[in-house]
Amino acid sequence: MVLSKYLPLPLQTSFMPKKKTTGKKGKKSPSFFDAPALEFLKTYLDNPSPTGFESKGQKLWMEYIRPHCDTIFTDNYGTAVAVINPKADYKVVIEAHCDEISWFVHYITKDGFIYLRRNGGSDHQIAPSKRVNIHTDGGIVKAVFGWPAIHVREPGKEENPSLKNIFLDVGASSDKEVEEMGVHVGCVCTYEDSFMQLNNRYFVGRAIDNRIGGFMIAEVARLLKKNKKKLPFGLYITNSVQEEVGLRGAEMIVNRIKPDVAIITDVCHDTQTPMMNKVAQGDIACGKGPVLAYGPAVHNNLLKVIIQTAQRRNIPFQREAVSRNTGTDTDAFAFNGGGVVSALISLPLRYMHTTVESVHQKDVENVVKLIYETLQSIKKGQDFSYFK
Ligand SMILES: [Zn+2]
Repeated sequence: MVLSKYLPLPLQTSFMPKKKTTGKKGKKSPSFFDAPALEFLKTYLDNPSPTGFESKGQKLWMEYIRPHCDTIFTDNYGTAVAVINPKADYKVVIEAHCDEISWFVHYITKDGFIYLRRNGGSDHQIAPSKRVNIHTDGGIVKAVFGWPAIHVREPGKEENPSLKNIFLDVGASSDKEVEEMGVHVGCVCTYEDSFMQLNNRYFVGRAIDNRIGGFMIAEVARLLKKNKKKLPFGLYITNSVQEEVGLRGAEMIVNRIKPDVAIITDVCHDTQTPMMNKVAQGDIACGKGPVLAYGPAVHNNLLKVIIQTAQRRNIPFQREAVSRNTGTDTDAFAFNGGGVVSALISLPLRYMHTTVESVHQKDVENVVKLIYETLQSIKKGQDFSYFK
């Protein structure tokens, strides 16, 4: 989800249908995702895909989705689109973004320390003491975000981490030595934290925002193929680049595909953990299902189809009000190409833009199910007009 500092705060409410399909209490149901799917998720999440440098992750994704689609194409900046029924006139997109927030090497001091610029909404507060991978032509160069010891900081006068004071240490003693290591201005930096599961309930990792989305739309394709479902339209499973810097990849690809309908998936904030403000951010909980957005970018008639599908299939869901913009690729689809009928299905996530982003496995399953079932509810050539 893009960091949109200057947008009005959203108001959110939650809703749960009376019937539940989630497993009986006390019994652990077998995983919805098979072993190869989970293996792919781990590989895909652990592979760095900084904004503007996503191609390696895109190759992994294309390799995984290839058996489940008819054809794949990519655009100049690396967005990948897997297509089912490429000859159909009516086109439906399901979309996620593949890029990961990161840092740019910006300024190397004479004594070999490195200052950074953001590439996306990277969080200065979590930087100190993190281990970092600097991506160079010669491969990864290791670095750490250094920070002065607690012993030497003056109580009451401690500085908060900001872009002005956080820095990388690569173990070099001069700018020349840093350059000899292959590090130059413009190198991109990611954290080294990797995928894990918490209590067999949460997927945890870096940039689950929104590579989990790429995983979920690929799973939809896999399920369609596995269950031999035929769709009466072309399905464009789109993994866009450059969302974290302002929805750029989606802006490009919408004009290429020219879809009739777009269903976007991204993450949104769980508000159940300490220091979250429900008045400002709404009442959204991990584990209570996909979150359906209300806002001008969301087409009400498409949203209706999604809600009716969720109710018919007993898939739990929550609601959020997003005001002017959704802060996701939904805006790029809705506000381009003459206005594409668009909707947003979000996955609640804890600790956005940290290295321990966490999502509930049941929610991941339910987003996949909701997209999968919604696709089967969309009719051939369906007209979503408000004026019929
Ligand atoms: Zn984000």
